[in-house]
Amino acid sequence: MSHRSSEQTIALFDKYVVPNYRRYPVCLVKGEGSYVWNAEGKRYLDFFPGWGCNMLGYTPQKVIKAIQEQAAKLIHVPNTWYTEPQGEFAEALCTRSFGKAFFCNSGAEANEGAIKLARLHTPAGKYKIITFLDGFHGRTFGAVTATAQPKYHDGIGPMLPGFLYSPRNDLQAVRDLIDDETAAIMIEPVQGEGGVNIPAPGFLQGLRKLCDEFGLLLIFDEVQTCTGRTGNWFAYQTFGVQPDIITMAKGIASGVACGAIICKDEVAPSLRPGMHASTFGGNPIAMAAGLATIETIEEEQLIPHSRKMSERFRQHFEKLKAELPLIRELRICNMMLGLELAIPATPAVAKCMERGLLINATHDTVVRLLPALNITPAQVDEGCDILATVLREMANG
Ligand SMILES: *Cc1c(COP(=O)(O)O)cnc(C)c1O
Repeated sequence: MSHRSSEQTIALFDKYVVPNYRRYPVCLVKGEGSYVWNAEGKRYLDFFPGWGCNMLGYTPQKVIKAIQEQAAKLIHVPNTWYTEPQGEFAEALCTRSFGKAFFCNSGAEANEGAIKLARLHTPAGKYKIITFLDGFHGRTFGAVTATAQPKYHDGIGPMLPGFLYSPRNDLQAVRDLIDDETAAIMIEPVQGEGGVNIPAPGFLQGLRKLCDEFGLLLIFDEVQTCTGRTGNWFAYQTFGVQPDIITMAKGIASGVACGAIICKDEVAPSLRPGMHASTFGGNPIAMAAGLATIETIEEEQLIPHSRKMSERFRQHFEKLKAELPLIRELRICNMMLGLELAIPATPAVAKCMERGLLINATHDTVVRLLPALNITPAQVDEGCDILATVLREMANG
């Protein structure tokens, strides 16, 4: 099905591709729903499709058709013109949330824009942004400085001035960091890369109160939690806290590169002409894919479906946790699932892969799953059985 073996493709990479990623020695060639195949025809069930970008699995038909039709009409138009897809996708996102949208191409780029917007919108002299330990906001300089994990700063300093880091779930610690120069608080409502960390009850509400008290903007980085992932269109709805700005990317266009900022109407004009832009941002292909993603989630009622699938995962994992003390904690927020292990989680990835299941390990000891919203009950059962076999094997050394 592919004209090169995995080995031949890997040889090309060794010769021509910068070696900045640790890659699995597998070349993937095609997918269907939550399944994906390698160049040798081996099939994998994917509990982590596209690193959370493939919200509808590998081959969402309506999205494929929208991309094909749009590509045949207009591939790219710069933002000096109006295009229908950008207006329609903005409407689709904002009528399910609030305010106005700005489009870009990635999560890091959305966060860069939000940082600039926060500094532009608040009075002169306010520039500091408070972020949180174990957070992750991307790899560009603003976003990686906002990422309070020393391992991401190692060797690339000096970092951008004006970022302060607070422990999670500690409102007094946040209050102690606020001064006359503070512009915003920026947080992932559920930390993804940091290990699927769900906020303590009342913490996000407390941040909202602090922002109101001190005149700060509250920014939610919803790059991983957007468009259905947490059981509502956005995680701020799941937790019942209204931010001023949200950033998103990953799943919003089913795996086509796309990022966005949504901000309150009164904040939007601060991103004034000439101050911020993105050449590919809002391009017709990404917009058409995004709109088809929202329509598919709605028409196929995938948010209610995903809640049922989340419950099914929970039942499997609670049974397994009762059996295996190796599983320390379950952290489940709909289609964001974390299993905190008592031992490093990385070996589970290779062991599951051998058995045809793709998962992720993060923050040393956490098995992380970001399944597609349209995963089927049979696929949940199939993958959970494999994961159970692997974790039992690891528990027995
Ligand atoms: C993945 C991620 C980012 C970075 O997104 P890129 O598209 O890789 O730039 C930022 N924030 C969060 C919460 C993420 O999960």
